Amino acid sequence: MNAVNAVLNLPAQFGVYNPVRLVNPGMLTVLNYHRIEDPHAPGFHTLKINVSATPEEFALQMDYLKEYYHVIGCDTLVSFLRGEATLPSRAALITFDDGYYDNYSNAYPILAERELPAIIFLTTGYIGESKAFYWDYVSYCFYYTAKKSAHLPLIGDCSWDDEPSREQVLHRWIEAAKLVPDTQKKEYVNQISAILEVEVPEQAYEGLYLNWDQVRAMSRSGLIEFGAHTVTHPILTRVPIEQASFEICESKRRIEEETGKVVTALAYPNGGQADFSQPVMQAARDAGIEVAFSLLPGPTRYSTVRKNAFSVRRIFLSYYDTFPRFVAKLSGLARLLILFCLIDCLTHFGAVQNHCVWW
Ligand SMILES: [Zn+2]
Repeated sequence: MNAVNAVLNLPAQFGVYNPVRLVNPGMLTVLNYHRIEDPHAPGFHTLKINVSATPEEFALQMDYLKEYYHVIGCDTLVSFLRGEATLPSRAALITFDDGYYDNYSNAYPILAERELPAIIFLTTGYIGESKAFYWDYVSYCFYYTAKKSAHLPLIGDCSWDDEPSREQVLHRWIEAAKLVPDTQKKEYVNQISAILEVEVPEQAYEGLYLNWDQVRAMSRSGLIEFGAHTVTHPILTRVPIEQASFEICESKRRIEEETGKVVTALAYPNGGQADFSQPVMQAARDAGIEVAFSLLPGPTRYSTVRKNAFSVRRIFLSYYDTFPRFVAKLSGLARLLILFCLIDCLTHFGAVQNHCVWW
């Protein structure tokens, strides 16, 4: 156990986080997951950091939520924002981003068994497709390359001699790639496979994402809602506002067409402070979105949620969150330990990780 886990474990062992939570019943806790998988399984070549928990850990986390929180659906949150409903004390909302298949195969049965609602934000251009998100494509190249050093676009000369150092370089590259326009990014991504001398087979990503039959099956259950997460996953402040608007509208329209249910929620790709803006929020509002989620850390007071319905905070979770860390993150108290966590994050990945902010 590393130093941060030890620090977070102590108060959890003595139950410090529980009273903190209990005196804050008017806080909304929104959890953000991506994938429920085993990142250490043989042949796991997609980006590990997008794994939020193993199925076993996820089940434990859901048990904890069921015991100590009132898990609500996003429809209840929207009713609250419309002034048509109140929120129960200690409300929690479970969210997933992107639309990976394991949301259906691994997470859904665990949620269904406990009757816990959740919302999945779909990047609709990938649903039912076998193409890779650029982070999973680059991850494949790093996983299979025989090279130990390279001169890469965006970050220059780099080398690695084991898996952790290789992962560090991968995350550094993905962080750098986020800052370049999409068209240029595609060019750089193609260069990576050439430089690392890895050919990515067409079937490498078969079945990685949900298809529309699985989306409809979960939607029909009444337990799982779906929200928009754009069509192609651009950072919405890095594309012209007309394109941002199209990405939101088209993602929403496609989900409505496939499920027959109105979409009222959006999650901003990447979700950091710089990844959404007033014009983007307005574009979402104009598209008929009623609540939008960032990845700035929560939890948040109900009054603040009502005030900032287009930047609702979420708690980003990853597989390296041990159970005490999970409890600490949910309590909100752990945000005081942000310095420890930043150090921890740097030791894990060499940089703040790829896809979403950490706390
Ligand atoms: Zn995403």
